Amino acid sequence: MNRLIEPKVRGYICTTAHPAGCAKNVHEQIKFVTSQPPIASGPKKVLIIGASTGYGLASRIVAAFGAKAQTIGIFFERAADDKRTASAGWYHTAAFEQAAHQAGLYAKSINGDAFSDAIKQKATALIKQDWGGSVDLVIYSLASPRRIHPQTGISFQSTLQPIGAPYRNKTIDIMSGQLSDVCIEPATAKEIADTVAVMGGEDWMMWIEALLKEKLLAQAAQTVAYSYIGPTLTDPIYSQGTIGAAKKDLVAASKILTQRLHAINGKALISVNKALVTQASAAIPVVPLYISLLYKIMKEKKLHEGCIEQIYRLYSDRLYRPNGTVLVDAQGLIRIDDWEMREDVQQAVAALWPKVHDENVATITDFAGYRHAFYKLFGFEVEGIDYNQPQIAAVPIPSLL
Ligand code: NAD
Repeated sequence: MNRLIEPKVRGYICTTAHPAGCAKNVHEQIKFVTSQPPIASGPKKVLIIGASTGYGLASRIVAAFGAKAQTIGIFFERAADDKRTASAGWYHTAAFEQAAHQAGLYAKSINGDAFSDAIKQKATALIKQDWGGSVDLVIYSLASPRRIHPQTGISFQSTLQPIGAPYRNKTIDIMSGQLSDVCIEPATAKEIADTVAVMGGEDWMMWIEALLKEKLLAQAAQTVAYSYIGPTLTDPIYSQGTIGAAKKDLVAASKILTQRLHAINGKALISVNKALVTQASAAIPVVPLYISLLYKIMKEKKLHEGCIEQIYRLYSDRLYRPNGTVLVDAQGLIRIDDWEMREDVQQAVAALWPKVHDENVATITDFAGYRHAFYKLFGFEVEGIDYNQPQIAAVPIPSLL
């Protein structure tokens, strides 16, 4: 297929992706990382689960180009066919691998369901064969609406709902910019349990157990899973909602895993990250409007970061500090949402929130910035790309050949 590729948005998903735009996104992230000081004493062999978009892709890029690490990335992405483009994560990985190989860095990828035993076996076999073990960092960055349990075959759907009482607030249609009031009914006990089954800690534990069983982790290996807390206004739909229940389960898993890793002096950590435009966050009601306001305030205060800036700070200022200790808060959590949660930032967002309406949404929020970032996720609206150039949609990922 050699044709012009345009965005086709349905709801909060873009069903097309632009190969050259996605590649440019990756090159821009690499450029940012290589313009920063290298991460001294950074990781050397990194497994990233959820490596193709958002926070996981940034984690792979910082490991490779900030610390010269070898990386294996796991993700679930779509290749192009006669009718459809590949998914954005596919194009990102193709561009990442190409750049990594050019820089002389080992980079291989596995495309498939990370929740399955088959993909865990494929990953452990590859690590054994190519590295003989010694993985020193495992990043867990999956965001998925469903999971098939590998032992029972039961299929779980995650939901984004409050717990206990309905949640009413205003939300924004990410395409039209139209505001509306939403009322989301509270989740049933099953919906809560199912969300925990998808986005909680069980699968993370299964990955680490699989690596431990095959003795593939290095001494003092670390594993990090990503979480979010956010402001009071999104509490009912996030922290206190079904996804928050899953994130609490992830925290509980980090404690169990740290005990399991004791023998190799390893650690399992949770990093609480900033709210950012990604495919996963676009699906959460109310959050896109909050992000639009947050971007406005953080850009004005020159505090704005994207995934790559966040993850560079995670590696350089939290995980791999010169004194060798990991910087955590009183609860033992890594906080790179510190700038988002600053009192002045949160007060400014909270003051504007009740004032947002259809007539002023374009001026008092950064909704334009939100939409631009949304299109960029799929390789559209990327500066320097000529969208009048026909594209070959079938781009290979070198290691998947
Ligand atoms: P994303 O949608 O950009 O990335 C999700 C990744 O998971 C992709 O690489 C995708 O291919 C992979 N994936 C999904 N299902 C899979 C499966 N079954 N098998 C293999 N791979 C699969 O999401 P994101 O926003 O970067 O989220 C990553 C993590 O960061 C999540 O835990 C999320 O809760 C957390 N987080 C996100 C934000 C935010 O605002 N986006 C903020 C804080 C924390």
